[in-house]
Amino acid sequence: MIRRARRRRRCRLDGKVVVITGGASGIGACTARLFVKHGARVVVADIQDELGASLCAELGPENSSFVHCDVSDEADVAGAVDHAVARFGGLDVMFNNAGVVGPLGVGIRDATREELERMLAVNVVGPFLGTKHAARVMVPARRGSIISTSSMASAVAGAGPHAYTASKHAVVGLMRNAAAELGRHGIRVNCVAPAGVITPMATAAGMGGMDVKTLEALLEGAANLKGVGLKADDIAAAALFLASDDARYVSGQNLLVDGGSSVVNPSLGFFRD
Ligand code: NAD
Repeated sequence: MIRRARRRRRCRLDGKVVVITGGASGIGACTARLFVKHGARVVVADIQDELGASLCAELGPENSSFVHCDVSDEADVAGAVDHAVARFGGLDVMFNNAGVVGPLGVGIRDATREELERMLAVNVVGPFLGTKHAARVMVPARRGSIISTSSMASAVAGAGPHAYTASKHAVVGLMRNAAAELGRHGIRVNCVAPAGVITPMATAAGMGGMDVKTLEALLEGAANLKGVGLKADDIAAAALFLASDDARYVSGQNLLVDGGSSVVNPSLGFFRD
């Protein structure tokens, strides 16, 4: 009995089928590895075919499968969901994680409509289509967990480019509205909201060619929680919580993984040493 309880603890997604968009890199890839470790079978859906396929080769064909999916294309998203059903027999967890960010530090007077439309096409249309097609399969099954990756920029101003920030606020609104509709079908809908974390996105995000060490030091300097250092694994762990039955009554939440930064105004400074 103790052994069974221990196994349950180790395998928090035993037998669950998951689609992870943006699963080939960064947070998505970390999450795919962690979910498989917890007994899930994962469809990695991404536009980076080689990277996605090599991740699935590492995870094993019995646990994972890569599918090319551009989240701004409805046929691709529908196809990724259908692939999960055909290959693994259903869909328990949809992780709408694919995202893009523009260059940092561009003021509103220089920001372009094209950049806004690019952000919306991936960061909002992606989770919209992912939620829609996950619900298509989950409603008849009367269960499921839908998670979208928002950002700390969805909760605090000045934490990202304008278009990116607007797109991540939209994801939270979509998540809450979907939670309101889908609760009656037994489906939970949440967001995970990371603070800045080193991934290919972060290093490519117009950080002025900054190397990883300098970027890490910058993020640590800006962090509220010192001496820990946010890792993509921490976001994967939060997604695991939301995906698993540990969160069986959690819905409509934007789970900030930011060490408290979004609730602190450092300029007040009451707690300086
Ligand atoms: P990443 O660049 O490592 O991963 C993003 C993945 O999304 C890539 O594999 C990329 O190929 C994929 N992708 C991009 N456009 C796509 C499309 N149209 N269709 C399908 N896949 C597409 O970056 P990451 O940091 O792991 O980002 C994952 C999520 O986390 C994003 O939604 C991002 O906005 C969010 N986020 C990241 C940070 C951070 O600091 N890294 C902070 C807050 C939120």
